[in-house]
Amino acid sequence: MRKVVKFGGSSVANAQNLSRVVAIIQHAATTDKQIVVVSALGGITDDLLHAAKTASKGDIAYKERLLLIEQRHLETVKQLLPVTQQSSLLSYVKTVCNELEDICNGIYLLGELSSRTQDRVVSFGELLSSKILAAALQSGQLSCAWKDARELIQTNQQFTRAQVDFTTTNNQVASYFTAESHDVVVVPGFIAADVQGNTTTLGRGGSDYTAAILGAAVHAPVVEIWTDVSGMMTADPRLVHSAKVIPQISYQEAMELSHFGAKVIYPPTLQPLLEKNIPVWIKNTFAPEDAGTCITEEGAEEKFVCGISSISHMALLSLEGSGMVGIPGFSKKLFEALANAQINVMLITQGSSEHSICVGIQTALTDQAKEIVDTVFSDEIAAGKLNPLVVEKDLAVVALVGDHMKSHPGISGRMFGALGRNGINVRAIAQGSSERNISAVVAQQDVPKAVNVLHEAFFETVYKQLNVFVIGTGNVGSKLLDQLLQQYAYLMQQMRLQIRVVGIANSRHMLIQEEGIDLQDWKAQLAEAPAMDLQSFVSAIREKNLRNSVFVDVTANDQVAGVYDQLLSKSISVVACNKIAAASNYQHYAYLKDLARAYNTQFLFETNVGAGLPIIGTLNDLIRSGDRVRRIDAVLSGTLNFVFNHYDASRPFADVVQQAQEEGYTEPDPRLDLGGTDVMRKILILAREAGYTIEMEQIDNERFLPEACMQGSVADFYVCMRQHEAHFSALYTAAAAKNTKLKFVATFIDGKAKVGLQQIDPAHNLYHLYGKDNVVLFYTDRYPDQPLVVKGAGAGADVTASGVFADILRASV
Ligand code: ADP
Ligand code: ASP
Ligand code: MG
Repeated sequence: MRKVVKFGGSSVANAQNLSRVVAIIQHAATTDKQIVVVSALGGITDDLLHAAKTASKGDIAYKERLLLIEQRHLETVKQLLPVTQQSSLLSYVKTVCNELEDICNGIYLLGELSSRTQDRVVSFGELLSSKILAAALQSGQLSCAWKDARELIQTNQQFTRAQVDFTTTNNQVASYFTAESHDVVVVPGFIAADVQGNTTTLGRGGSDYTAAILGAAVHAPVVEIWTDVSGMMTADPRLVHSAKVIPQISYQEAMELSHFGAKVIYPPTLQPLLEKNIPVWIKNTFAPEDAGTCITEEGAEEKFVCGISSISHMALLSLEGSGMVGIPGFSKKLFEALANAQINVMLITQGSSEHSICVGIQTALTDQAKEIVDTVFSDEIAAGKLNPLVVEKDLAVVALVGDHMKSHPGISGRMFGALGRNGINVRAIAQGSSERNISAVVAQQDVPKAVNVLHEAFFETVYKQLNVFVIGTGNVGSKLLDQLLQQYAYLMQQMRLQIRVVGIANSRHMLIQEEGIDLQDWKAQLAEAPAMDLQSFVSAIREKNLRNSVFVDVTANDQVAGVYDQLLSKSISVVACNKIAAASNYQHYAYLKDLARAYNTQFLFETNVGAGLPIIGTLNDLIRSGDRVRRIDAVLSGTLNFVFNHYDASRPFADVVQQAQEEGYTEPDPRLDLGGTDVMRKILILAREAGYTIEMEQIDNERFLPEACMQGSVADFYVCMRQHEAHFSALYTAAAAKNTKLKFVATFIDGKAKVGLQQIDPAHNLYHLYGKDNVVLFYTDRYPDQPLVVKGAGAGADVTASGVFADILRASV
């Protein structure tokens, strides 16, 4: 009995790789006789096709391509074999390439490329590679023969994708190998012949199938597919970086995965082997010591989802109409029409209302399908019983595959939940009754995201990835980036959360790095990055379409606040330190909250009130658990507290304000704080979060700043304060005379809010506030007399950044 080993295009791409292949075959030869099936050198089939097509278009450039093909093979021979053994192989390569050129010249002259000639042209790839490998093996110790696959595998005349005649093939293979005694027989993959001896091919990727056909015919103990990955993986490794090798998988699961796009095995491959129960191993030529994947009758019991795959470039055809209801035969007619035109149906869904039927096919075939279906149903369409076929393009299927999904409830819930949370719209769903596959049709552009989201949901017990975009790199933004860097390892370890900062922008530059920005030196990188353009930054975030995306606004900019809806409507969470959106008109605030709900995402702004203090979160918890807010008393301006705690009329009021600004406690324009606007916004946001519909204009503001100081620039403001020092010292003296302290208090009672400077006596809850502290007293149904109090530092970059950080973590749930 011989085992069958097949080496793919990348395994034989050049002399260096071929040497590895030789070593693998030699090693195996110590225990087994082998049939070695080989693909063309990687990329050569494409090159051959390209040359033939170029020639058929009357473009002489095919000659250049042929020359490159010849040179690549000659070069490979020269590097692989000792000089003394090269000459016969070099002349073989030249002879074959001349023959190839003759055929291409014919194509060029005729201006025509039939599929039969195309098969003839591409067959040269496997002929050359197999001859080269056989020569390399013969130059070593092994006894090695070369056998033309066209004398073994017989097919029909469906050129480019011929169907195998198994009876003849099995006889030919059995009789050849019965009399064959070499240690190794090398056979070109992919190619076969029809009954007249014309060259046919088995379909792109078909060398795997060659190995399976031969393996089944000789009853091989095992078929090994050697490729460039260490096995069949839980997802396409080019799409999902954390895809893992599946150690063991059933034939059915592997077939399902390959039919749904897992390129590592050509889909028809497993059928002949499954019938004979021959195990298949997927092995890595570049890491032969890796275990690989074993495909047998039994999959791995413990896993209910074994892999995720996708098919791109799909279209949905929907046939709809009241005339379909209850009348048998519509679907038969539809499928017959498609089958007669050789249009493969990849997916079918029909609602139980029978009002419509929906099928998925390859995009390339849609025009043809539309024409056929509309013709077949022309009478029904004319009679108004059916609508003309509706075609939607730019779609793809993502599928979960696993033998044991049927015994586990809740898998589709988890699948669609994960897709929904990431804003991936599912256009159609199909689940076979075997429950081995649940398929979702999504937009083509969502495929990488969908596959990653599902992979994370079903395979990554390791960690969840959060993709963060930070806009604003002032005091708070910089601190936030520091904190994210500092906590990276902790969050990974303790919360299995990987926070990647993918974008950083400020008013000057914007930096985006999909693999995550190195936070050790973001400043230098940002300084080198392209100029900031808000709309491009937002478009990039939307287009990147990364899973679990969070947009973090640490600016005070109204334009930035104006882009939230573009993000929320893409299911991108928004964490805002910026108060402008939450304090804008009620309609806009409600619109953003509704968007977040509708798109299953988060709009969070804890730091809008009291910096890092858990004020909004606490209020949300009260309301959600059924409590009702009766009254709120609060001192909400860290700035005003700082100012009034430091001002005792012994130095100018303006100096104290200056100090507050220098220490980072004020808005860029301190009047937003001192004039009470900032406090108004905060009480407004609290009232809204408590469930009240309220606008800024409805809030009374008993302002203490002289009206004159509200005009002009920030510099003018400082001048004006100095001019009015007497006014400020009078305020202070009056309060001190009564043994009270000045506090700027916000109150919300019975739906009415007001802010203003008050003299607070020592018995009051608000009296003992120091430095930049904030305090909020919630009087509610559950806290009627003794309020629920939240108190602590209510300003400062560090605490604000940590509040933003906490919102980012909340957005990850
Ligand atoms: P060969 O040339 O050896 O036949 P292929 O390129 O046909 O190799 O198939 C191997 C490639 O299949 C891998 O390099 C990988 O990028 C791709 N692939 C797609 N899906 C999967 C999957 N689920 N598991 C492993 N590989 C996959
Ligand atoms: N060389 C062929 C192709 O590229 C067959 C194969 O590699 O399996 O499709
Ligand atoms: Mg392949």
